[in-house]
Amino acid sequence: MNLKQVINASGRMSILGVSTLSDVVLDGMAYGGKHYFEMEDLVTQSGQAVAGMLGTEAALIVNSASAGIALSIAGAIAKDKHQLVENIYAPAPQVQREILLMKGHNVDYGAPVETMIRLGGGIPVEAGYANGCRLEQLEQSISEQTAAVLFIQSHHAVQKNMPALDDVYALCQRYNVPLILDAAAEDHPQSYSERADVVIFSGSKALEGPTSGILAGKKTYVSYAAQHQKGIGRAMKVGKEAIFGLLAALQHYDARPRPAREQQEELMKLQELEAIPGVRVTIEQDEAGRPIYRGRIHVDEQEAACNALTLVARLKEGNLAVYTRDYHANEGSIDLDLRPLQAGDLEKIIAKVKQILGGA
Ligand SMILES: *Cc1c(COP(=O)(O)O)cnc(C)c1O
Repeated sequence: MNLKQVINASGRMSILGVSTLSDVVLDGMAYGGKHYFEMEDLVTQSGQAVAGMLGTEAALIVNSASAGIALSIAGAIAKDKHQLVENIYAPAPQVQREILLMKGHNVDYGAPVETMIRLGGGIPVEAGYANGCRLEQLEQSISEQTAAVLFIQSHHAVQKNMPALDDVYALCQRYNVPLILDAAAEDHPQSYSERADVVIFSGSKALEGPTSGILAGKKTYVSYAAQHQKGIGRAMKVGKEAIFGLLAALQHYDARPRPAREQQEELMKLQELEAIPGVRVTIEQDEAGRPIYRGRIHVDEQEAACNALTLVARLKEGNLAVYTRDYHANEGSIDLDLRPLQAGDLEKIIAKVKQILGGA
């Protein structure tokens, strides 16, 4: 193989392999890999352990958050109708299949949310508009055909002019419709335990575990979803090594970010880039208000050797590929997320920027 060395300054991104694994996680995976288990027991008991750690009634470890979405949708559709488990796509006119979500939540996180709904046998029904939705619009879209409401808690989703999660859950409870919450990339998983009927996390994002996912929540809905391990879930099977790796990650999970002062001091190193004509550096707090700080490199295309979009592309060229957070690149700036960086990476990024923009 001839793979590039990658520096990830973009955050936790699936296209780069999300996170590097700590020794405790790798030890967990090695333990899982080196032993035999009665797999059904392992899946059941590891689910109980996860539920204990998250404070939910039940949980199931799956192989990705995407699988968690598809399985919980399939569960909400088939409920206790066992014949539907092996036949989730079979026409069954009396079965409710509509999955209601706000249009601004129907995003592409690397795969479209809508595709996971269909994978689970659901039919997506959107409420509201691309730039907003009112709670009444969501309410008016609930019908006899609604099997569940899906809420995407994510920076990918539209944030402005959207009803809050807790208001949506209250609405669902009034109509007796289950709420499935995709919180794939969110920190503090325990804080979501009471805020939906089912909540889904990616094991490899904020939790920094191996490629895996968690589906947790009310016992009824988790067991509805779990049945589909003998249906579509077979194509999403989780391995024993991933189960032990994820358990180790959860046991050592620590969402405390580095102190703001420390993050800011580290980012000050970027100031030497201001010696390059057309470059300015600022420190920005996370757009969702989390205590995470990122360096922002502003590139003035009149004065600098190239614009921010070209800088992004050129940073990825060569044997050392640097990935940045590019959400504002078309407005002339790129962001650097310190969290995934390893010792010496920031210096390498600075050197590469200088090489591209001059000043090396
Ligand atoms: C990453 C992500 C997913 C998918 O997670 P995987 O574990 O990669 O399947 C789903 N939803 C959201 C909002 C995400 O950010």
